[in-house]
Amino acid sequence: MELNSDQQKVNNIDEIVEKLVKKEIEFHRVDDLLEANAAVVARRQALEKILNVKLPAIGSTIIDYSEIKNRNAENVIGGTQIPLGIVGPLKVNGDYAKGEFYVPLATTEGALIASVNRGAKAITLSGGANVKIIFDGMARAPVFKLDSITRVTDFLNWVNQNYEKIKEVAEGTTSHGKLKDIEPFVLGNNVWLRFVFETGDAMGMNMVTIAVESVCDYIEKNYPYADCVAVSGNMCSDKKQSSINSLHGRGKTVVAEALIPESVIKNVLKSDAALIHDVNLRKNWLGGARAGTMFQFNAHFANIVTAIFIATGQDVAQVVESSSGYTWTEVRGNDLYISVTLTSLEVGTVGGGTRLPTQREALEILGVYGPGSPPGSNSKKFAEIIAAAVLAGELNLLSALANRELGKAHKKLGRNIKS
Ligand code: NAP
Repeated sequence: MELNSDQQKVNNIDEIVEKLVKKEIEFHRVDDLLEANAAVVARRQALEKILNVKLPAIGSTIIDYSEIKNRNAENVIGGTQIPLGIVGPLKVNGDYAKGEFYVPLATTEGALIASVNRGAKAITLSGGANVKIIFDGMARAPVFKLDSITRVTDFLNWVNQNYEKIKEVAEGTTSHGKLKDIEPFVLGNNVWLRFVFETGDAMGMNMVTIAVESVCDYIEKNYPYADCVAVSGNMCSDKKQSSINSLHGRGKTVVAEALIPESVIKNVLKSDAALIHDVNLRKNWLGGARAGTMFQFNAHFANIVTAIFIATGQDVAQVVESSSGYTWTEVRGNDLYISVTLTSLEVGTVGGGTRLPTQREALEILGVYGPGSPPGSNSKKFAEIIAAAVLAGELNLLSALANRELGKAHKKLGRNIKS
């Protein structure tokens, strides 16, 4: 019987493992020598031998490496599992997300899901979270060097005059990306062009980078005095806290609000509007100002954003800017008005890690997996639900702090201590 090439590759596992252990080949080369899932086994077995450890848990994964090879990860040896919990029902009154949702949170921090869940109950009983998206655009900002500041102004004029052609070049690389702005910034003889795109349902970082790379080629060819130093010049700013993202937005700028009546504050949150408001002012605003938390005058946006990002296959490093934002409260009679503003929430329902099996199911729980109709509507719906969940997290943590119950909750749900 003749073996097909995949079978031949599988039969070579033991031999490949030996070569890896002896360092005769590098780990990434195994992908060229074995079928995708066999390559994962070979790398893991070799690592077990080299380190004298056993990795059966990492090896127990439902991930089909042939599906993620050349897409999501390299040098794969298995998978990581994180507990997935659910928060809800959470009522959202958005322009895209309308109704009650169950929100998947992946975390190892005991008490987090319970905390957001109580906030969600309070919001839902109060009529839901109103949510608005006030900006949508993914940015990539290459940096160019020119020989003088005279050339800088000439270059800026040239870009202005050639905007339509640049837009055509950029949009020639994608069917969903639409260039909406080019924001110029200058330092000495250096120019940053911050290209801002609407990216439909994709978070858009690859889409926009590919588009901007072709624009850089076009610029260098047609304006030879500008030298593109790097396609990303940090004015974007990806995976970094920055004033530019906070002020101009990156991804989606989303605001969520709720008015929590006194009865819900008393019965669900066991608290008081004035106490919660006082904690917000002195902790999030005064404490934040004193500590210099810069773009994060909030209690724990990052907790909720990270847990949803992990669950749904977002680029988790973008939590850095996606968790930027502000929590605002007002006492209205005996009721509490509370809002959260997320300045740069970068999310997608297509592309990246959204296609992985558990991540896809988590998006399906929210009814947002894949392309929306019209394009962009799924990612906007998703962003609205995230903002509402962040609101729930803020409301509950501020209440817990006002009630002095934070340590107690973490003892019970984070350390399994009963008292
Ligand atoms: P992607 O997986 O690279 O591409 C998604 C593609 O889906 C789009 O380009 C688009 O093709 C297509 N698509 C189909 N239906 C769509 C719809 N309804 N709306 C929008 N697009 C639709 O995803 P990405 O969002 O561009 O990039 C995310 C990935 O970039 C993540 O894996 C992230 O980790 C990574 N990343 C890259 C960089 C970088 O510098 N390159 C930086 C940070 C993160 P068309 O373009 O043809 O329309």
